[in-house]
Amino acid sequence: MKKIIVSIDWGGTFIKLGIFDAVCRKLLYFKRYSSEKLTKPERFFPALEGLLQKSFRERKLSYRNIEGTAIGAPGIIDMKDSFIYYLPNIAGWENFPFKYEFERKFPFPLLVFDNDANLAAWGEFKEGTLRDSNNAALVTLGTGIGCGLIIGRRLFHSRTSAAEAGHMAISLQRKKCSCSAYGCVEAFLGEAFFLDSLEKRFWRQYKIHTLKDLFILAKRGNQQALVYWARYGKILGVFLANLINLLNPDHIALGGGISGAFTFFRAALERELQRQTMKPQLSQVVVTKASLGNRAGVWGGFWLAKEKLKK
Ligand SMILES: [Zn+2]
Repeated sequence: MKKIIVSIDWGGTFIKLGIFDAVCRKLLYFKRYSSEKLTKPERFFPALEGLLQKSFRERKLSYRNIEGTAIGAPGIIDMKDSFIYYLPNIAGWENFPFKYEFERKFPFPLLVFDNDANLAAWGEFKEGTLRDSNNAALVTLGTGIGCGLIIGRRLFHSRTSAAEAGHMAISLQRKKCSCSAYGCVEAFLGEAFFLDSLEKRFWRQYKIHTLKDLFILAKRGNQQALVYWARYGKILGVFLANLINLLNPDHIALGGGISGAFTFFRAALERELQRQTMKPQLSQVVVTKASLGNRAGVWGGFWLAKEKLKK
């Protein structure tokens, strides 16, 4: 009989669904959906059920084969009791008993409930670019700035999902962040925040609505767009220098949609690392793009669930 693990990477913009064969360790099905309709809990569970039913029908699979599920949520969660403290970019989930509600609605257990960036870090460690690392960080660049840490070849956790490095303050400017604190990395590099820092005249002229638009413009050789990407790289460099000085990692991988612009911000990032890190630590680390793209999270969830089943 087939044994299946369902792994769900729930983000602010997209929700990604992976269905795995637990024995062959194979990804049988992968699809990305807009998470627009999965906002409040009342809408989330019926919508998720619809997506699951559809994918199981398509692959001619049965719920009976599901050993369990892994979910990575975009926010602060409690690792011990599997509840959500809050999701910074999605309202309505404050102090929500997620595991309890999930298992009331679905006939299979929620084996893993973690933070989305942690799942992606574990995915890159098991299957991707962090495979040979002992101490590493995955930093996701998107709507928010997420981070997952591998310390001593284990995924780092505390009572909460931890590693909220995107909310390390890098400035004393009173620049308010989505977490309600000031001066966080995310308040500078989160997509909406960074777009907001571009000159109005510029984004009106080129109709810049997303950082993808800025990426396309840079690709065409627009000088101003390249200057903006260099600014992105400089700020990211300050942040990564803090991680390097703190953790002495052997690898930092950059994931999330905005990591696609790595070629445009890399030089400025590396210049800043030269300035801001201690030399031995800098010589021991590589900074690269992550390798699994938008599948890192579902792979991480799959492996965490599988490890849990073994125990
Ligand atoms: Zn913050």
